[in-house]
Order: sequence, then structure tokens, then C-alpha cells
Amino acid sequence: MSGALILVVEDNERNAKLLRDVLEHRGYRVLVATTGEEGVALAREQLPALVLMDIQLPGISGIEAFDLLRAEDATREIPVVAVTASAMQEERARIATAGFAGYQPKPIRVMEFLQAVEALVGPGDADGAGR
Ligand code: MN
Repeated sequence: MSGALILVVEDNERNAKLLRDVLEHRGYRVLVATTGEEGVALAREQLPALVLMDIQLPGISGIEAFDLLRAEDATREIPVVAVTASAMQEERARIATAGFAGYQPKPIRVMEFLQAVEALVGPGDADGAGR
């Protein structure tokens, strides 16, 4: 058994590393894409159980990437959680109406973040990860 595969779409290297570390520690498997285009391509190819989507990205935005995932049968059902700076009120409103499976503020609060992930994909395989 191994934990669910989670795709992190995040252009900030430090944020991506933090999310990867937190998720891998819990026993999830993690893929990282640094642009929306790369994220959509990886999602099509790997069909992750969950996508954690930054909104402010170079190239297409996280909302545009989300729309592309929604437009295809293969990726339509994958839950997508927005992970973005909480201060941006207008952006939060767009996220709320776009149909994301949830929203997590940056910087993440680890306990709340992991609870939200587990609610969507089940627990990670933390024992198997050699914690
Ligand atoms: Mn960003």
C-alpha cells in the first residue's frame, strides 16, 4: 500500500518544497509542477487523486488550469484545492465561484492543511514511508 498521489502546482520553489515535505512525511506520493500548463499535462498523464493549485502562476493562472482540467473527461472528477495568499479577497471570491473542492491559505497551517487533504483522499501511508 502506498499513499494517494497528489499533484502540487506551485511556482515558488520554497512553497513547493514545504508542501512536498509535509505531504511525503504523511506518506502521500507527490508530484510538483511549476506552471499551470505543466500541471495540466501532468494531471492528464498521471491522474492524481488530488491537485493542490496555486493561483498566481507564470503563464496561465491556477483558475485557467482548473478550467482546463474541468473541460476533459479524464480529469474532470479530480478534486482541486486552491492554495493561495489569503489576503487577496477578490481572488478568493473567484475561487469560491469557480468550483474548487476547497481553499487553503498560504502560508499553510499544517494541521488544517493535512486534515483537508485527508478528507479528500484518505490518510497517507505514513508507516510505509519510514517515518
Ligand atoms: Mn505563485
